[in-house]
Amino acid sequence: MKRLFELDEWKVQTQILDKKERRLQESLMSIGNGYMGMRGNFEEHYSGDNHQGSYLAGVWYPDKTRVGWWKNGYPEYFGKVINSMNFIKLDLYIDEEQVDLYKDTVSEFKMSLDMQKGILSRSYVVEKSGKKFHVEVERFVSLAQKELCAIRMEVTCLTGEAIISFEPALDGNVTNEDSNYEEKFWLPISVTEDSLTVETKPNKFGIEQFTVAATMVNRVKNLKHTYTSSTDLTVVQEFTGKLRVGESASIEKLITLTTSRDSSKEEVTNRSKKISERISRYSFTQLRQQHMQLWQERWDKADVVIGGDSAAQQGIRYNLFQLFSTYYGEDERLNIGPKGFTGEKYGGATYWDTEAYAIPLYLALTDQKVSKNLLNYRHNQLPQAEHNARQQGLKGALYPMVTFTGVECHNEWEITFEEIHRNGAMAYAIYNYTNYTGDESYLIDKGLDVLVGISRFWSDRVHYNQDKNQYMMHGVTGPNEYENNVNNNWYTNKMAVWTLKYTLLSLEKAENKKISLNIKKEEIDKWKNIIEKMYFPIDEKRGIFVQHDTFLDKELRPVSELNPEELPLSQNWSWDRILRSPYIKQADVLQGIYFFMEEFTEAEKRANFDFYEPLTVHESSLSPSIHAIIAADLNNMDKAVELYSRTARLDLDNYNNDTEDGLHITSMTGSWLTIVEGFAGMRTANERLSFAPSLPKNWTNYEFHINYRERLVKIIVDTTGLTMELVKGLPIEIKIYDKWIVLTDKFTCLLERK
Ligand code: BGC
Repeated sequence: MKRLFELDEWKVQTQILDKKERRLQESLMSIGNGYMGMRGNFEEHYSGDNHQGSYLAGVWYPDKTRVGWWKNGYPEYFGKVINSMNFIKLDLYIDEEQVDLYKDTVSEFKMSLDMQKGILSRSYVVEKSGKKFHVEVERFVSLAQKELCAIRMEVTCLTGEAIISFEPALDGNVTNEDSNYEEKFWLPISVTEDSLTVETKPNKFGIEQFTVAATMVNRVKNLKHTYTSSTDLTVVQEFTGKLRVGESASIEKLITLTTSRDSSKEEVTNRSKKISERISRYSFTQLRQQHMQLWQERWDKADVVIGGDSAAQQGIRYNLFQLFSTYYGEDERLNIGPKGFTGEKYGGATYWDTEAYAIPLYLALTDQKVSKNLLNYRHNQLPQAEHNARQQGLKGALYPMVTFTGVECHNEWEITFEEIHRNGAMAYAIYNYTNYTGDESYLIDKGLDVLVGISRFWSDRVHYNQDKNQYMMHGVTGPNEYENNVNNNWYTNKMAVWTLKYTLLSLEKAENKKISLNIKKEEIDKWKNIIEKMYFPIDEKRGIFVQHDTFLDKELRPVSELNPEELPLSQNWSWDRILRSPYIKQADVLQGIYFFMEEFTEAEKRANFDFYEPLTVHESSLSPSIHAIIAADLNNMDKAVELYSRTARLDLDNYNNDTEDGLHITSMTGSWLTIVEGFAGMRTANERLSFAPSLPKNWTNYEFHINYRERLVKIIVDTTGLTMELVKGLPIEIKIYDKWIVLTDKFTCLLERK
């Protein structure tokens, strides 16, 4: 495996300015603070191929749908978080020539993302007209003041003397690479000497227009302000002066960004100026210190330590760093985009990834209210989910595959119309939260509204087959998107029946909901009938649940028989060939087994894993972790470790050859899930906490904390065994392997799984 960055436990760094893989480096060097974030673009000019992208959470545009042939029910637009203005821009001129990091001779290049501190830094030596200059740049987006992006650049003259200029700018002339009609989305509102205010274009879908204002304060040492120029979408300041050998000049560019999500449109510019004034009272060091302090607090709660394998260690920290840079639960209107602020694919929208993959991590690593916020987000969007179901001519609620407002905005029919299993994940998350926290208030007050909506949808979406006296579900796409329009996808049928059961069970706890939601006896009878008579494709001979009705008719050759050069299939095969093949993009049947692990016997888990994993290409980043957890459950540790590294280092090592588009943020939860649920064997089903730890062969130890029902528990697994410490909270009963203990203070035992 070619390492793109050096191995370091807290840093992602390189000494290579990779002009061929600039986009990849940009993705990997992304930073964010939940409010905004950006790719690891250079502040200075770079004329080579790259993707400049900075994004503000929740600032999006409904881009008119583009499809070949319109089908009824299609969403009218594909929402996307739009490239905000380029506010990091800070051009450097030497003797009136613009420094261009693509064309100029650059040496001693170093770039480093410090995950512990949340700081991106760079240094290099540039040669211009035979003279050399050392440049250092540092950037962070503050955790302490969400609206602040801070940049510091220092230039030192190494030979001769030269006229140096800094040109900090705000530039609204930006595009989205993924726009459907190559439109620009920003219109100018106002520009001053130090600020730019823009607004998204009007649209015909009734989606609000967003206003964004940026104010910049430039604190410059050893150069003088020479001029300011502006157009309706840009403002540039210039600072110039002469440097001789050994002399330096520096600039601190503090940019404050505010949006109409947080104040009236009229107030946006003013607010940005006010925050900017307040921030300017602090030195760069102070601002940096406040920011780093907050990262430290996050790490104190969430860090996972791995000994003996620095690649694994770097992987998990990188994943946690990027996840928390994307979302830390402070704003309940937001959700977690599959690429966060690191790229444009998936449009920064909300997917089922949140419920299926992210909620378990946020439950254990952050305050309970963070996960509750994520559930509230879906409850608030229930009317829109009902709208989506109506669009398909169905009753109840269909949560979207891709959304900002709750209205579906994905353009592909096989996803929009068919990938309805997503509805099951919404229901599962309600169970997960309630089961994990023991807090039933969400379930009773709001969760049931969602569960009933989803149950009504399933009940209408299934059909009754008289010949077989069974219910079926045709024309769906399972989690394996490498097949469409299949009948009786086992996973979808499973999620539907499970939702109906869980809804009925939950309704028993809140009889009043039956009245307020107008649930009649006939409706309940039908749900019970579906539960009893749902058809599930099963192959008794192989002992497996069959992915869908005709899956076993395919030519079932394992991935290992493919020519490795044909992988990833998505980049090498025609779509038609993929659809007809037996190759599975991501866990499908196994996703269902993962969700309900305690329901299945070891033999069932093994038979399904042994059948499906060899057919799986893991071309969705969401795939390896689920397989790793099941492999660990089956004591197949070598496989689990192999898949762990594929999850944890998916982006760092560019496994799927697509990281240049941005990082796979939502699947980054997978490495944490693999350590905690896979290697440590944590289970929480039926409101009981249990562990069955094992230690991967090449690791000397691993340690993590979990929040569980007002306790903070520290888990250490090393070669001597398991140590568990109750750091905070009342004693708690925990099952370790097959024995129950009461954890009051500290517990140790030997490892029973190798
Ligand atoms: C996966 C989906 C996922 C989406 C966003 C797709 O490649 O197949 O399951 O929701 O990516 O992560």
